[in-house]
Amino acid sequence: MRVALLDDNLALGGQIWRAEATRDVNTAAARWIRRAATAGAKMVTRARVFDAPAPGVLAAEMNEGDEERRIELRYRQLLVATGARERFLPFPGWTLRNVLGAGGLQAMVKSGLPVAGKRVVIAGSGPLLAAVAAYLRHHGAEIALLCEQAPASQTAGLALALAKYPGKWAPAAALVWQLAGVRRATNCWPIAAEGDEVLRAVRVLRNGRETRIACDYLACGFHLVPNLELPLLLGCRTRGGYIEIDEAQRTSVANVFCAGEPTGIAGVDAALIGGQIAAAAAAGRPISARQKRARRRWHRFGMALDRACALRAELRLLAGPETLVCRCEDVAYARLASCRDWRDAKLQTRCGMGPCQGRVCGPATRFLFGWQDVSIRPPLFPVPVASLAAAATPDTGAEPAFEAVAGKNDS
Ligand SMILES: Cc1cc2nc3c(=O)[nH]c(=O)nc-3n(C[C@H](O)[C@H](O)[C@H](O)COP(=O)(O)OP(=O)(O)OC[C@H]3O[C@@H](n4cnc5c(N)ncnc54)[C@H](O)[C@@H]3O)c2cc1C
Repeated sequence: MRVALLDDNLALGGQIWRAEATRDVNTAAARWIRRAATAGAKMVTRARVFDAPAPGVLAAEMNEGDEERRIELRYRQLLVATGARERFLPFPGWTLRNVLGAGGLQAMVKSGLPVAGKRVVIAGSGPLLAAVAAYLRHHGAEIALLCEQAPASQTAGLALALAKYPGKWAPAAALVWQLAGVRRATNCWPIAAEGDEVLRAVRVLRNGRETRIACDYLACGFHLVPNLELPLLLGCRTRGGYIEIDEAQRTSVANVFCAGEPTGIAGVDAALIGGQIAAAAAAGRPISARQKRARRRWHRFGMALDRACALRAELRLLAGPETLVCRCEDVAYARLASCRDWRDAKLQTRCGMGPCQGRVCGPATRFLFGWQDVSIRPPLFPVPVASLAAAATPDTGAEPAFEAVAGKNDS
């Protein structure tokens, strides 16, 4: 089989492994990447799929320094593993400078932003918050407060579930150790960020009582949302907010498999086992009983995570009439409140039509108003008009600029 791996990042490895793999050759990340390379897979980085113009064809934009180049990929079988992103919810002041995504701030520190001596409040929901807190603390930040919106009774469910996953014990214990002495609160969420141009303080509500905390950064994230845009564009069906798959990770579209976070937010181990199963199925190899068992276990873990991070209804009341919900197109809450649905909001207000293409305000409006995205259309990301025009009329007979074919008989 001929196999190509396409990723829009500079380095392979996805959300949590891309930095590791380049830094240390002995990590699991680096070992997997080496294994793929020695197996003869073609690795293409900085290439972002923005369209699926015909069955078996993907259009991608490839970034080569200052130049953007459109490439066309043909495939017999496709494994979609587009990952997840943080969910943001609007509250007064959330667009102030230094109010950032929790993972976003972590990425900035990884790229060199100094946080030594800075006071940081971390707020939202999910295990990512604690991981980010530990990371920032390690880099010298003072964690003023780590707040989780869910009540302790809800997060306890995840702690109990963790007990069944011995592989998670050591990292969980390390986190507890790294966060010793950090003020933590459950039942606690940000109600406003204050400042002139830049953040000065955060007001949080904790067990019904309001507290104001002076800080330099507010790192926020309300768990994760799966990146479903590409599988939806391909026509894959969803169930319960994730891509519907069978035991072999097959989607509802013939020859399209899906693995990782679009099939359930369950962390790196679930993504690994899902990827291995999908690849085995695509190659016509058997899936072992051990792999099936592991997949079921991680699926259960994902469900426990979803329950632990279920958002409380009060978060729907945070945004005031003037609070921007779509920050690309400056659309305030009051303008959206009178819209019927996502489509109406797009037509009337341009909500979701800016550079992020609804990646931030889409999940927020889904939570705030219960809206569903009615359709996903290309381009999935902003691209030059020339690329769009070419993608609209794929020449399926012509020799593509780059071809990735995976199928039996190495054809
Ligand atoms: C900020 C953040 C921090 C996280 N930290 C942790 C953690 O510490 N531990 C943990 O277990 N989990 C963490 N997660 C969850 C994490 O996403 C998974 O554990 C793991 O990375 C899932 O692997 P994946 O292959 O599903 O997705 P990813 O690792 O995200 O890989 C998906 C890749 O596809 C690329 N991609 C997406 N769309 C396109 C496109 N159209 N064209 C080309 N490439 C595309 C992405 O850029 C990415 O490189 C984190 C998630 C986020 C958002």
